[in-house]
Amino acid sequence: MTSLDDLPIRDDLRGLTPYGAPQLDVPVRLNVNENAYRVPEAVALDIVQQLARALPDANRYPDREFDALRAAFAGYLGHGLQSAQIWAGNGSNEVLQHVLQAFGGPGRSLLSFTPTYSMYPLLAQGVGMRWVPVPRADDFTLTPQAVREAIAEHDPDVVFLCSPNNPTGTAIDLETIEAAAEAARGIVLVDEAYAEFAHDRSRTALTLLERHPRLLVSRTMSKAFAFAGIRVGYLAADPAVIDALRLVRLPYHLSALTQAAAVAALRHSDAMLSRVDELRTQRDRIVDELTALGYRPYPSDANFVLVGGIDDPRATFEALLERGILVRDVGLPHTLRITAGTAAETTALLSAMAALRAE
Ligand SMILES: *Cc1c(COP(=O)(O)O)cnc(C)c1O
Repeated sequence: MTSLDDLPIRDDLRGLTPYGAPQLDVPVRLNVNENAYRVPEAVALDIVQQLARALPDANRYPDREFDALRAAFAGYLGHGLQSAQIWAGNGSNEVLQHVLQAFGGPGRSLLSFTPTYSMYPLLAQGVGMRWVPVPRADDFTLTPQAVREAIAEHDPDVVFLCSPNNPTGTAIDLETIEAAAEAARGIVLVDEAYAEFAHDRSRTALTLLERHPRLLVSRTMSKAFAFAGIRVGYLAADPAVIDALRLVRLPYHLSALTQAAAVAALRHSDAMLSRVDELRTQRDRIVDELTALGYRPYPSDANFVLVGGIDDPRATFEALLERGILVRDVGLPHTLRITAGTAAETTALLSAMAALRAE
């Protein structure tokens, strides 16, 4: 039998392992920061109607410029953004890949502040870039000074700032983001995958775009819009940045069905954001109740909580799994990362954590 090692694979890919959070069929899945709520029926029906309308034209390639979708994203984001400033892809991971294909590549470097999203090094690797991880402070916060120093020391071509940060939930304040945009000679991208879950939604890097043409802000429909299964991510930046991304995308990369589904879902943003509010409540409940139980949850502006103060994360992970609850061990000592669920799911999690503490 042929193994990977027998193949003429690129030298820099030898020995790597692919991204792979477990996909287990258990009753309470709190491990990959999905939206706990299903797509509401009224929204689903509207989407199906739009898909039905698009389907007969599927013999033709889709709108390569996805104009209707870009206009819908510009309207949803607000802040005076125009369609010409919007890009989209099959998940924000594809959008990040486009950014690295256009602005990174061999001989260039991507800097991020760790711990952060585990896909960044894999995306850098995929385009042959050097990955430069710079450790955060012990409480995972960042300051303008720390960011300026790291950028001065490493002179990166691209900086990814994840805010709120996965897996810690930490928001980066706008002064720090602006410091990065001023210090870097290259591209600074703020990954706002969890922006809608922030305590203060108005504190977004979108407000800085006008002053910084090399600043990019990426978002996703996977989390706030309960659309992880459809695959839609997007980005706002200067129109010249969008022109650069057109150079590297595959032709017609967004299917007609994806475009129709996303446009339909965006019409229901109010309904989707009210579900987000319920998840924010559950997120805060996890922080409050686990603190009361003697755990040490980190403050979170996302739809998950990094919980510290766990003596043996492996054992707690297994004990929760035995009770039908799947969480994530991200490899940080004495922590587990737990996604906010529905009220019932969160109650199940908190009862299990209380029982484990009592044991
Ligand atoms: C979930 C997540 C994304 C979204 O990925 P999609 O490809 O849009 O599903 C992006 N960035 C971070 C940090 C995430 O946690």
